Amino acid sequence: MISREELLRILSRYDERDIRIATICSHSSLQIFHGARLEGFGTIGIALRGNRPYYESFPRASPEIMLEVENYKDVLRKEFQEKLISENALIIPHGSFVEYVGAENILERFRVPMFGNRLTLYWEGDRERQRRWIMEAGVRAPRRYSSPDEIDGPVIVKLHGAKGGRGYFRASSPSEFRRRLEELKLRGIIRGGEEYVIEEFIPGVRFYPHFFLSLLEAPNLPGLEHGRLELLGMDRRLEIIDEVYRGLPEIIEDYLDYTVAGNIPVIVREKFIVDLLEAAARISSAARRLFSPGLIGPFCLEMIYHPRRGFTVFEISARIVAGTNLYPMGSPYSPYYYDEPMSMGRRIAREIKRAIELGRLSDLIY
Ligand code: ATP
Repeated sequence: MISREELLRILSRYDERDIRIATICSHSSLQIFHGARLEGFGTIGIALRGNRPYYESFPRASPEIMLEVENYKDVLRKEFQEKLISENALIIPHGSFVEYVGAENILERFRVPMFGNRLTLYWEGDRERQRRWIMEAGVRAPRRYSSPDEIDGPVIVKLHGAKGGRGYFRASSPSEFRRRLEELKLRGIIRGGEEYVIEEFIPGVRFYPHFFLSLLEAPNLPGLEHGRLELLGMDRRLEIIDEVYRGLPEIIEDYLDYTVAGNIPVIVREKFIVDLLEAAARISSAARRLFSPGLIGPFCLEMIYHPRRGFTVFEISARIVAGTNLYPMGSPYSPYYYDEPMSMGRRIAREIKRAIELGRLSDLIY
């Protein structure tokens, strides 16, 4: 892994009055660039040649400098990294950035200073490690089954490397598990031999609250030992299965699919706001214990509520998530922290601006 010392040595050559916020062009990049512009930063977009005109077509969210690549892995090339460094680029990693470039490549080969703690890539990217993190936090998590033979109730089977829920399936017994796996192979959705985890299926309502943890500020919640935690928004993913009723009276097989297709806004029933903040404070404190300094900036908890179980956390996304794109001008929660429209993208830029003012930019880069 590239050492922090090396990243800070590179950062020390930066002109802090001319930092440019950089990322790969994607939906989230529009919010990131829009927010960066509102905070007065220059911006750099990285786009595939063919995509460039599309991302340049948004006058208030297109990057000031556009760098074209044939393949996203080109960002790892030495000359490309040198170019970014020479432009004082500070990378904001969003989901597509990590997916296209690869978490391991970022950790081992990417020297351009990046906002946040790179160790979150390591802790979040592996289901077992992520589970340790959720357990360490002491929040409720779905039960895990170590073998299909143990299945004694509804489970969801998650294939490794599956993106956005694709190929996930449900089963309630060992024989149903085998039958479904076989069906997926026959339909060409999986090849067979893939690794998977078997997790308790949690019935209930899904919520994806978006948080921002600022290490520049003092703790603002009980149980939070460091940083200020803000609840900046909330969404719910729209998955194919969410529309299953449209095929009624039969259940059409193709609707039994957890692939994410979009996001919709949501708020929680009012008394639950305490549960959400408490869970987020626990996850933040656990992150600090496991991989100091822990979380820096945006993260999202993927949760399911049921009156009998309360909230269950089934996944953590330790970065800006696509659901925040619902709120480029702020959310139903953000006005309680800020007088001005505050998107997650803008909040990141605000943090960088504040760190520069305090002479603490290096505190945001690990
Ligand atoms: P991403 O990495 O984009 O967050 P993913 O591929 O890891 O997505 P998950 O977010 O883990 O996928 O899950 C996809 C969907 O599967 C969830 O949004 C939810 O609808 C459903 N799901 C996941 N885990 C459970 C669970 N334990 N119980 C019930 N539903 C679940």
